[in-house]
Amino acid sequence: MSTERTITGIYRGAPFHWVGDGFRVSNYFQSGNNFGLRVSPFLLLDYHAPFGYPPTDNEQRGVGPHPHRGFETVTLAFAGSVAHHDSAGNGGIIGPGDVQWMTAGAGILHREYHEKSFANAGGILHAIQLWVNLPKVHKMDAPHYQGLVAAQMGRVELPNSGGHVRVIAGEYQGAIGPAKTYTPMNMFDIHLQPGGHAGFSFPAHENTMILVMSGTVTINGTTQAVAADFVLFDNAGENITINAQSAAHLMLLNGTPINEPVVQYGPFVMTTEQEIRKAIDDFNSGAFGELED
Ligand code: MN
Repeated sequence: MSTERTITGIYRGAPFHWVGDGFRVSNYFQSGNNFGLRVSPFLLLDYHAPFGYPPTDNEQRGVGPHPHRGFETVTLAFAGSVAHHDSAGNGGIIGPGDVQWMTAGAGILHREYHEKSFANAGGILHAIQLWVNLPKVHKMDAPHYQGLVAAQMGRVELPNSGGHVRVIAGEYQGAIGPAKTYTPMNMFDIHLQPGGHAGFSFPAHENTMILVMSGTVTINGTTQAVAADFVLFDNAGENITINAQSAAHLMLLNGTPINEPVVQYGPFVMTTEQEIRKAIDDFNSGAFGELED
């Protein structure tokens, strides 16, 4: 018989900081909180809470060319529009409900910036960026890119008009997310109406966490969480229930941990210091390709 999953704690992100001139984010891990492998396969969570940008003629508002190696960057837009292009020749624009899933693998240079018409008109940007680790055997795979649009996402309507769950990766009640992942994970975008409820169950060894983006919810009957709270669950018990006191928007992340060393130097995430030195050497010698400003 399965039991209720217990909660490790509720955490806040670090104070907002700017990534380039286009992304005002709060880091929840690993600099905001160092959860280590407790959140594996996820390496980093930057939350861009809704923030309004004035109209601009600057078509580069964002962050200029920079490298990554050894993991994936996953950007989810809820409002506003973000563009990306990279040295592997991939590019795309994501708007509300869309997801950019970039596998840096062996190495890539990319730019991330406000899409031109959004930058020109100005408006609210609301987004998340996750870094998802790759197993050592796949860190040097060729880079690639998945542009996932809202219409592709799995969708489950909750009972009693209580809201809906969008499935970006993994599976919920038979609805499948479009993201192709290297290791098993679930990524659910949860929208609850006041009084709505949703239930989830994951094996205890899988890491599980929830970011509350708006509203007030009660988790497992007694723990209240509000906007900007990050709920980390123990690796004990399986079942999670969420009841909404008000309209609420949450991101649930779950996955099988990658139990390998994490050695990070800025935008490179490998398993040994030697691999990091190789990444720096390869970057300095131009092996990541070229990308104009
Ligand atoms: Mn990047």
